[in-house]
Amino acid sequence: MLLRHTTAEVAERSALSVNPAKTCQPIGAMYAALGLHRCLPHSHGSQGCCAYHRSALTRHYKEPIMAGTSSFTEGSSVFGGQSNLLQALNNMFTLYDPDVVAVHTTCLSETIGDDIPQIVDKANEKGHIPEGKYVIHANTPSYVGSHVTGFANMAKAMVDYLAEPAAMKNECINIVPGWVEPADMREIKRLCWQMGVDVIMFPDTSDVLDAPQTGEYEFYPKGGVTIPELKQTGASSATLALGHTASAPAARALDVKCNVPCEVLDLPIGLAATDRFVDALRRTARVEVPQYLENERGRVVDVITDMHQYFHGKRVALWGDPDQLVSLTEFLVDLDMRPVYIVTGTPGKAFLKRIEKALDGRVPEAKVKQGLGADMFLMHQWIKNEPVDLLIGNTYGKYISRDEDTPLIRHGFPILDRIGHSYFPTVGYGGALRLLEKILDALLSDQDKNSPEESFELVM
Ligand code: SF4
Repeated sequence: MLLRHTTAEVAERSALSVNPAKTCQPIGAMYAALGLHRCLPHSHGSQGCCAYHRSALTRHYKEPIMAGTSSFTEGSSVFGGQSNLLQALNNMFTLYDPDVVAVHTTCLSETIGDDIPQIVDKANEKGHIPEGKYVIHANTPSYVGSHVTGFANMAKAMVDYLAEPAAMKNECINIVPGWVEPADMREIKRLCWQMGVDVIMFPDTSDVLDAPQTGEYEFYPKGGVTIPELKQTGASSATLALGHTASAPAARALDVKCNVPCEVLDLPIGLAATDRFVDALRRTARVEVPQYLENERGRVVDVITDMHQYFHGKRVALWGDPDQLVSLTEFLVDLDMRPVYIVTGTPGKAFLKRIEKALDGRVPEAKVKQGLGADMFLMHQWIKNEPVDLLIGNTYGKYISRDEDTPLIRHGFPILDRIGHSYFPTVGYGGALRLLEKILDALLSDQDKNSPEESFELVM
């Protein structure tokens, strides 16, 4: 079984990753593109890449993922994929009538060096792009970055291609939500509306990847940011970017292009990060925090007080996406837990500093690894040397969980072996409550499972 033969002895590796804690860029670009209303994502590369990206998203969201592919053959691999993309654009606009096609590249088309804007110009010349329709693109070579940078690149492409500068600013605030679940995006919008703040969220996969079952199949579900809304982002008074890795590039591009000032915040996971988000909304939109939200927060504090005795000192291993890890680490430290192992395969400049800040000097034994060699194999080796009480991360941790008999809370992307996770937010005060319940359930179920007969308690 995967990871069954992991040895405890940690050897320095300079070139090899084993089960990396990341996946490839186009998956993120495809996910972001699905958050644009009536958009058809398009993978400029081989069919195999596109099939993998679609199936990765389908397996996580349990929804059909529509996307086109340039279907490279041996010929296009040598001479470039221009004619394939021209034909694909013509076919897609003729057969599927999207408002926008979001093209992302793959390792192969990047290595060839295909110039997407030049090919799109050609498609325009040939009349393959109907009046009023758009093609945007992001470069997403997978030998650099990860699915998170792919998401960031496509979110930035939305700004580069579609945002329009405006002389007069309005009261609206743009929110770039980062790679979170559709339910998280809905929850972030609910928080904004509850505070009376008018927002444009982009991308927005709520009501796309968690659309209700109506008995009718909709090729383009009703959710997603619309093109007119994206054009309007240039007239907003500010942008709040949630997550330094996934959201900051789009927010900064909008500032440069349309002079919309931005503030980059952590994902609002946990009490402190949600407080900062709510406070940023309050300051930016000059509104009051309603009593309703204060009550929500108060309930989280009450539950933490009740649960704290079980959390204190528990050692946790975390892996996944950098923006998620920073906020989760801060939350766990606030609960007096000890996030001792933290691993992400996604590169990015400020991650280590931000994790250090989240640890706040309170977990001196913490080991943090990012980028090359930051993989599930290393995580398993660390755990073999000094076990943990809890694992938090994506499905790939289930092998470690089984081998080491340690409870696992599934969080992040991808979750391939459970259903329903994308319908429950983990952001905001409501999301914090859900996380708290999941953590305590996992710890106490483990205690029940392993306690001897004489200390198996009905009341805990
Ligand atoms: S890593 Fe590159 S070659 Fe592999 S699926 Fe992703 S884009 Fe395709």
